[in-house]
Amino acid sequence: MTPASPTRARLLPYGKQWVDDEDIAAVVETLRSDWLTTGPKVEEFERAFAAFTGAAHAVAVSNGTAALHAATAALGIGPGDEVIIPAITFVASANCVVYQGGTPVFADVEGDTLLIDPQDVEGKITARTKAVIAVDYAGQPCDYEALRAIAARHKIALVADACHALGGSYRGQPIGSLADLSTFSLHPVKPITCGEGGVITTNDAELAKAMRVFRSHGISSDFRQREKQGSWAYEMVSLGYNYRLSDIQCALAASQLKKLPTWVQRRQAIARQYDEAFAGEARFTPLAVRDGVSHGYHLYVIRLGSGFDRGRFFQELRGEGIGANVHYAPVHMHPFYRRTFGTGPGLCPVAEAAYERILTLPIFPRMTDEDVADVITAVRRVATRLRSA
Ligand SMILES: *Cc1c(COP(=O)(O)O)cnc(C)c1O
Repeated sequence: MTPASPTRARLLPYGKQWVDDEDIAAVVETLRSDWLTTGPKVEEFERAFAAFTGAAHAVAVSNGTAALHAATAALGIGPGDEVIIPAITFVASANCVVYQGGTPVFADVEGDTLLIDPQDVEGKITARTKAVIAVDYAGQPCDYEALRAIAARHKIALVADACHALGGSYRGQPIGSLADLSTFSLHPVKPITCGEGGVITTNDAELAKAMRVFRSHGISSDFRQREKQGSWAYEMVSLGYNYRLSDIQCALAASQLKKLPTWVQRRQAIARQYDEAFAGEARFTPLAVRDGVSHGYHLYVIRLGSGFDRGRFFQELRGEGIGANVHYAPVHMHPFYRRTFGTGPGLCPVAEAAYERILTLPIFPRMTDEDVADVITAVRRVATRLRSA
C-alpha cells in the first residue's frame, strides 16, 4: 500500500555499485590492450587482492559461485562426503557441495547474529564430514577461533564464504586469511564489483594451483604461458570448467579494490547512524555485533518484534520508497533440498524462527546522510502505523 505522501518518491535499493571515471578509464585501457582475457590484469588483480586480504594466494574466477565450486573441488569433496553449512545463507554456499556429489549438512545459527553456531557444527560432525563452510553473514566474521579449533580437532577443512565480508577483520586479522580457503563475490551488490566475478584466497600453494587448473578446463598451463614458451602443447590433467575471469573485468576489479577501505568505513558509518537511531527501540532490534570484529556491513539487518507481520512491514516499507529485502530463507527449506536430501521444518529451529522476523535495510557506500535519515523515518513510520492498526 502506497501512502499519500511516501518518504521517498523513488525506491532506494538495498545495495548498489559505485563505478567512477577512474574505473571506466581502467576498463577502456584494457579494451585497447593486447589482452582481453587471462593476461596481465588477472595477475595484477590477484596480487593486489592477496596483499589486501593478507593471504599468500588469490585465484580469480568468473563469479562467487564458481569460487565456492573451485573450493569444494580443490578439497576433493565427492560422493559420500558431508560438508556442514549454516542454514541461513545464499543457496550457492550449499549448492557447491552438491555440484561435487557431496551431501550438505545444515547447522543452525546463533539467534542474535545469524552466524553459524559452532556448537551445532560440532554436534553434526560424523566420520564422513570433510569440511565446514562458514558464512560471514551480513559482513560480520564468524567465531573463527571456535571454528578453527573444531576443524583442527576433527581434521577437517574450514572454508569461509566471505562474500559479504571483504574489507572486514576478526581480532585484527583480515577477512581472507582466517580459513583454509576464503571465497568472495564481485557481483554489483557486493563490497566491490566487476559485473560478475569471484576470488578464492588461501595460504596453500597446492590448493591455489589446483584451483587455477580447475578454472580453465583442467588444463595445466594457460595460453599466455604457452605463448611465452613458444609452445602449442598442453595437457588436461583433471576435469575442470571455464570459470575464468577476463582481463577487462580484472582491470575494473583492481580499480575498485583501491576504494574498498573508504567504502567499508562509509558502510560502518551508516550502520552507526542506524544503531544510534534504533537504540532503545523496543519494536525491533538490529542484529548483535561481537567484540573484536570489524564488520563489513554488506547488509544491515533488523529483527522485528513479535506482533509484526514481516510481509506487511516489507510491503509498507516498499510503499514508503525504501527497498527493504529479506536475506535469506533457510536453504534447507527450499523445494530442491527437501526433495533431494529430505530436509525440512524443524531441522534448524533457530534459523527458521529468525527468518520470519528479519528485514534488510538499504546500506551501500554511495548512500547520503539524507538517504539514511529517510530509511530511519520510514521504518519508524511503518512500525507506528502497523502497531496502531
Ligand atoms: C553473492 C553470494 C554468493 C554467490 O556469488 P555470485 O558471484 O553471485 O555467484 C555466494 N555466497 C554468498 C554468501 C553470497 O552472498
